[in-house]
Amino acid sequence: MKKPPCPNASCSTTASVIHHGCYKTRSGKRRRYRCRSCGKTFCSTTATPYHRLHHQRSTFDQVAHLSVEGVNKSAIARLKRLSWNTVARWLEKAARCCRRFNHEQINELGVPEIQADEIRTIVGDKDSPVWVFTTLDVWSRLWPSTVVGRRSYRNTYALLKDTVSRMRPECFPLIVTDGFEYYAKVVWRLFGRACVYGQVIKTRRNDRIVKVERRRVIGATWRFEQALTQSEDSSKLNTSFIERLNLTIRQGSSYLYRRTICHARSKNRLEDQLELLRCYYNFVRSHRSLRRGRQAVTPAMQAGLTKRPLTLREIFSSRILPLSPNAIAHVFTGITAKLRLAA
Ligand SMILES: [Zn+2]
Repeated sequence: MKKPPCPNASCSTTASVIHHGCYKTRSGKRRRYRCRSCGKTFCSTTATPYHRLHHQRSTFDQVAHLSVEGVNKSAIARLKRLSWNTVARWLEKAARCCRRFNHEQINELGVPEIQADEIRTIVGDKDSPVWVFTTLDVWSRLWPSTVVGRRSYRNTYALLKDTVSRMRPECFPLIVTDGFEYYAKVVWRLFGRACVYGQVIKTRRNDRIVKVERRRVIGATWRFEQALTQSEDSSKLNTSFIERLNLTIRQGSSYLYRRTICHARSKNRLEDQLELLRCYYNFVRSHRSLRRGRQAVTPAMQAGLTKRPLTLREIFSSRILPLSPNAIAHVFTGITAKLRLAA
């Protein structure tokens, strides 16, 4: 078996690792390793969510899987015969791993068309609504970024800035959003005249859409026509793809069901759940509208990030490798904190 790299952040990934005896667990013997450069000993699960898990890894995977299929924590605890606190702790660990995985893996996107939208939900004492901002790369159906918070300029900027940081520098996409006031300001700040930006404004009456208005905000008419001709998915300005993603997100998180008693008790819990869901949506679950012959394709495969659908086991087994201080701020406290540092 290939020896795992040293999990010590100050060691290089090529540091020499040797076998260092064994230790016993309920399910048998496990090998220990020692790093020759820093002298630290570790096992194959060190720095993964499986470390010191007193259950089988498959149980951990099943708990994460049930959670991203929209089962709430109490139901998971009853189904798997675990305590609620164990389920909550495991999901927190899984989310931490997924946050890092998303951050490391979603990069260098060639994004010809972006759609952005928000989902309204409640957190904690239900007093003020919280919004889940999302973006979607339409061509690959990849969900690159998400931000949770108030419907403010700051959060809108954080969302699009994060999406832009994951794109190739030469990318100047077609962007479509709803009529929320800050999108136009943020898009202008990030791209200037280099992109094509339009809005789709829907007027509803008695829960029915009575009017759809399509506005060209940045870019001349011929540039819109050119962008839409090049697009494989859209023939006119629309937000259908992001609205479909929002539906998938609502189905995949028990916190976001409508009229639920299971709303998130804190913003961090909601963010954790969304990181887990984003990882599952992008890398694990195959997308029905993306197919290559008989092969099911995940958004990450379509975007060229992976060669095949991954499993939750593979994601959770991946090591937390050393990150730069900036990246650590980004990964572990969310992008809004990073903006605060930069200001
Ligand atoms: Zn080391």
